[in-house]
Amino acid sequence: MPEWKILLTDGLEQNGQDILRAAAQVDNRAGISADDLLKVVAEYDALIVRGRTKVTAAVFDAAPRLKVVGRAGVGVDNIDLNAAKAHNVIVVNSPTATTIAVAELTLGLMLSVVREIPRADATMKAGQWIKKELEGHELWRKTLGVIGFGRIGTEVARRAKAFDMDILAYDPLLPAEAIRLRGGEPVSLDELLHRADIITLHVPLDENTRNLLNAEAFAKMKDGVYIICAARGGVIDEEALLQALNSGKVAGAGLDVFATEPPGATALVTHPKVVCTPHIGAQTVEAQTRAAEDIATEVLAALEG
Ligand code: NAD
Repeated sequence: MPEWKILLTDGLEQNGQDILRAAAQVDNRAGISADDLLKVVAEYDALIVRGRTKVTAAVFDAAPRLKVVGRAGVGVDNIDLNAAKAHNVIVVNSPTATTIAVAELTLGLMLSVVREIPRADATMKAGQWIKKELEGHELWRKTLGVIGFGRIGTEVARRAKAFDMDILAYDPLLPAEAIRLRGGEPVSLDELLHRADIITLHVPLDENTRNLLNAEAFAKMKDGVYIICAARGGVIDEEALLQALNSGKVAGAGLDVFATEPPGATALVTHPKVVCTPHIGAQTVEAQTRAAEDIATEVLAALEG
């Protein structure tokens, strides 16, 4: 058996570890610091991370044996892909494993925001009964603007249709016909911003999507729009969102992701019209089990060449 050594820096479900251990030596150093990673990475043929570990150019420079980096999950924005390419290191992820978990959380955030469910619960637990203050909105026949109509965006749209919502989709990388086949009405970003009652983002974070929703974009939206984001914090200009919440332009926001994580008790996190979750989009037993199996298989396949 080849003497492959695999380092886990953010943990991995047991089923994935079992697959890896059948073929390699696996060291589980969940939570390892950036400095310690630089010290030990030279020993390893493969690295498996989630979103926490930053696989920087310095990590690649310090890892002459490294052949593959596996990301258990979707977003690879924590991995320096240019450095990986320069060092001939393969980067693999498990893109489909977490789709349903994120789509379901998105619907959960949507309902939480329009009906203020977290506030209803918190006030009851404090012994209050503020029924009259808690008049929300329905999703029924509202227009949902989906920015990024890939795997998650499409599954969100499917579920939103069960609520009788109309689906607008902006995704410049997809042909209009593909968007229609996935159940969305293809529109420009401007049209989506003008028409949507609720806007949800499902784009990767890259140079084109960073601060995609900025002050200019908020100005084009309907008054009282709701914003949902379970993509990446950087796709919304958080300062602009805060201003739009304070002015009433945005009636509420449901956020699973933040520009800096953890963000602490910022003005955005503590805003009464914001419902927050600590980046738990992919945090279901089912998604993590699937992701572990997928990434273990992919990493071993890459090592075997
Ligand atoms: P995907 O690649 O299937 O879909 C992304 C879509 O965005 C693609 O269709 C692409 O064409 C589109 N897109 C790219 N650039 C765009 C732009 N500038 N404007 C509009 N559309 C653009 O990916 P997915 O599996 O649906 O995941 C989407 C994102 O969700 C991931 O990149 C990740 O950042 C995020 N995510 C978050 C969590 C979480 O825990 N909250 C978990 C998984 C994924």
